[in-house]
Amino acid sequence: MTTAARDVQPLVVAVIGAGPSGIYAAEALTLQQDVPVEVAVIDRLPVPFGLVRYGVAPDHHAIRSIRHTLERTLDRPGVAFYGDVTIGRDLAIDELRGVVDAVVYAYGAGADRKLGVPGEDLPGSVGAPEFVAWYCGHPDVHPDAHTQADDGAARDPGRVIAALVTGSRTAVVVGVGNVALDVARVLVKTADELADTDMAQEVLDSLRGKRVTDVHVLGRRGPAYTAFTTKELRELGQLPDLDILLDPRDLELDASSLAAVGQDKVAARNVAVMREWAGRAPTGASRRVHLHFWTRPVRLLGPDRVTGVELERTAIGPDGLVVGTGDTSTIAAELVVRSVGYRGVALPGVPHDHGTGRVPHAEGRVIRDGGFSADEYVTGWIKRGPTGVIGTNKSDAVETVASLLADVASGRLVPGGHAGQLDRLLAGRGLTALDLPAWRRIDAAEVALGLSHGRLRTTLAHRVELLAAAAAPLPEPVGGREQQPRPER
Ligand code: NAP
Repeated sequence: MTTAARDVQPLVVAVIGAGPSGIYAAEALTLQQDVPVEVAVIDRLPVPFGLVRYGVAPDHHAIRSIRHTLERTLDRPGVAFYGDVTIGRDLAIDELRGVVDAVVYAYGAGADRKLGVPGEDLPGSVGAPEFVAWYCGHPDVHPDAHTQADDGAARDPGRVIAALVTGSRTAVVVGVGNVALDVARVLVKTADELADTDMAQEVLDSLRGKRVTDVHVLGRRGPAYTAFTTKELRELGQLPDLDILLDPRDLELDASSLAAVGQDKVAARNVAVMREWAGRAPTGASRRVHLHFWTRPVRLLGPDRVTGVELERTAIGPDGLVVGTGDTSTIAAELVVRSVGYRGVALPGVPHDHGTGRVPHAEGRVIRDGGFSADEYVTGWIKRGPTGVIGTNKSDAVETVASLLADVASGRLVPGGHAGQLDRLLAGRGLTALDLPAWRRIDAAEVALGLSHGRLRTTLAHRVELLAAAAAPLPEPVGGREQQPRPER
C-alpha cells in the first residue's frame, strides 16, 4: 500500500471493553504516528472505565482517579466510546468483525472462582466479584426491577447482599489477596468512614445498618505467601477502633517460608507488618479483623443458609501443594465472601480456553482453530488472567498493539475502507450507543446527586438511572461554578 492510500484509509479497530485494558489499547493505537487509526471502544455498560469504576474500592480515591486519564484517552482524536452495546447480543462477533479491520478483546474476567467445598452455594455465601460489584454500584447487581415472587430475592443480588450485611455480626472472607482486604475493610468500616466515597446512596444506607463486628480472613498457606500488596495491608492497621488479631504461632516461619521471604521483598514486608500487629495488645475495640493462616474452609455449615464455616489446618505436602492436616474447628458466621480470584467468561464466537479462563494468544495475537486469527487481538485480564494492578494493563496493551501494528507493517493486516460502517450497522439495528458526551451527562448527574447528599459524587447504580441521566440535558450549576464540588483528582 502507498503512503497516500494509508492517509485516506484509516485502520478501523474495535476494542471490546472500556475498562483500563481496553482504553490503554486505544491509547497505544492512537499515540503512534505510523498508521492512521480509528478506534471504537465498545462496552455493554452505559458507562466506561470497567474495574476502575466497578472494581477499585470506593475508598481508594487515588486509584479511582485514574479514570480522568482514561477519559482523556476516550476524548482523543480517532477514539470513540460506544456504551450500552453488548457484543454477543446486540451484534454477533462476526458481524462486528465484518465492519472493522481488527478487534481487540479487552472484556476482562468478571466471574468468580469456586472453592469446591460443600455448602458454598448456600444463601449467605457470596463471591467477591459480586460483593465488590455491589459496593461499587454495578447495574448487574442493582437491577432495575426485581420480582416479588418466591425467587425474587435471587434476581436482585443487591438486596440479598444488603440484607446479609445488615443481618450479620460475623463474616468470613476466604483468600488473602487485595480483594479480600478491600472486602474486609468495607465490612468493618462504618458508613461515616465511607461517606466521602462515591458509593451509591442505597449501598451507603445499607452499610449504615451494618452490624458486622468481626471479620475472619482465611489464608490457606502461611503469612509468607499472601497476595496482598503492603500498602493495602498497612491501610487496615490504620483504621481506628479496630483490633487485628493473629495467632503468633501462625507467624513462625518454616524453612520454605523463610526462603520465600528471602526471595520476595513484598512477602518480607507483609510478614513484618503482621508481626508488628501480633505484638499489639487487643484494645477492646468495637470491631475486629482476625487473620488466620494455614487454614482452609472444608465446608460451609447450615441447613438452608450459612451459619458457620468448618475449617481445617493445612500444611504444604511433599509435592508443594496445600494439604489438610485433619485438625478441624468451626467459626460461627452468617456471611461468607469467597475472595479466591476472578475467572474469565467466554464471549460467544470468541476462542476461549476453559481451563485457564482466557483467550488463547501469543503476544496478544488471538489463536483461532490452531493458527493466528487474521484480525483478532486480546489484552488485559482475558489475555493474561486476573493478575496485576491497573498499571499492568498498560504494558500489556502496549505489547498487544505492538503485535497489531507489526501485522500492519508486514501487510498481514490491511485497512479495508471500513470507516463509518459500524455506525451504519448499529443504526440499521436501531441501536443507539452512548457516546462520551452521554458519559459526561451521567458524570454531571452523579456529581449533582452527590451535592444534594452533601457528598462529592453519588454513583447511579441502576441502568435505568444511568440511561435517564445520559438522556437529560447537563444540569445547571448550583450556585455558580465556584461552588461546584471539586473534581476528584
Ligand atoms: P489474588 O491476588 O489472586 O488472590 C487470591 C487469593 O485467594 C490468594 O490468597 C489465594 O491463595 C487464595 N485462594 C485461591 N484459591 C483458593 C482456595 N481454593 N482456597 C483458599 N484460598 C484460595 O486475587 P484477588 O485478590 O481477587 O485480586 C485480583 C487482582 O487484582 C490481583 O492482581 C490484585 O493485586 C488486584 N487488585 C489490586 C488492588 C490494589 O492494588 N489496591 C485491589 C484489588 C485487587 P494461594 O496463593 O494459596 O493460591
